[in-house]
Amino acid sequence: MSMTTEDVLRWLQQLAQVLQENREYLTQLDAAIGDADHGANMDRGFKAVSAKLATLTNADIGAILKTVGTTLVSTVGGASGPLYGTAFLRAGIATAGKQVLSEADVVVLLTAFVEGVKARGKAQVGEKTMLDALQPALDAAKKAGSDGLDLAQLLKQSSDAAQQGVQATIPLLATKGRASYLGERSIGHQDPGATSSWLILKTLADSCG
Ligand code: ADP
Ligand code: MG
Ligand code: MG
Repeated sequence: MSMTTEDVLRWLQQLAQVLQENREYLTQLDAAIGDADHGANMDRGFKAVSAKLATLTNADIGAILKTVGTTLVSTVGGASGPLYGTAFLRAGIATAGKQVLSEADVVVLLTAFVEGVKARGKAQVGEKTMLDALQPALDAAKKAGSDGLDLAQLLKQSSDAAQQGVQATIPLLATKGRASYLGERSIGHQDPGATSSWLILKTLADSCG
């Protein structure tokens, strides 16, 4: 099985919907350890992405993902705009010119996405950020790829690992981003960015299943 440009466009369309539905949830998570804008940031960014999808029906996967990246950088702001912007830009560069992605290509895409977050945010796993969902998701995707699982299974395992990563942020002490200003008081709360990272991957799994 493979991922086509239509799958990617469907993912982004559904993601705009999912982020709108989860706007209040992400806002509440960010209210506890940040400035209560993560839901609004993600909803605004992906509404802008959604508005551009109609112009992208003839674009290749790399071009689509690069457009998502530039759109997020210009509309989201805060920490998450440049982080997800860089992630989608790097994913677009890694898939430049492709109309179809194999399982191995999808692992390359996810690797570039996570590398983008690392390059921009300089966080390590365990600092209570989106990386705590993304790194286990990438590790699971790589393992699924080397075990020869098909695309749907690979994406499901990756999404499930991200969800576990989200739960694992609760006891962590934040040492990056706004939540780090709270010090010990960040402990006991789920990270909003890790949660949106899981939603991005869950929606990808759902739209390619
Ligand atoms: P802001 O904190 O500027 O209001 P958002 O609320 O949109 O931006 O995003 C907050 C999320 O960004 C956090 O929950 C965290 O997951 C993520 N984040 C913050 N700093 C970093 C970083 N250096 N690396 C990775 N993720 C980060
Ligand atoms: Mg915030
Ligand atoms: Mg903010």
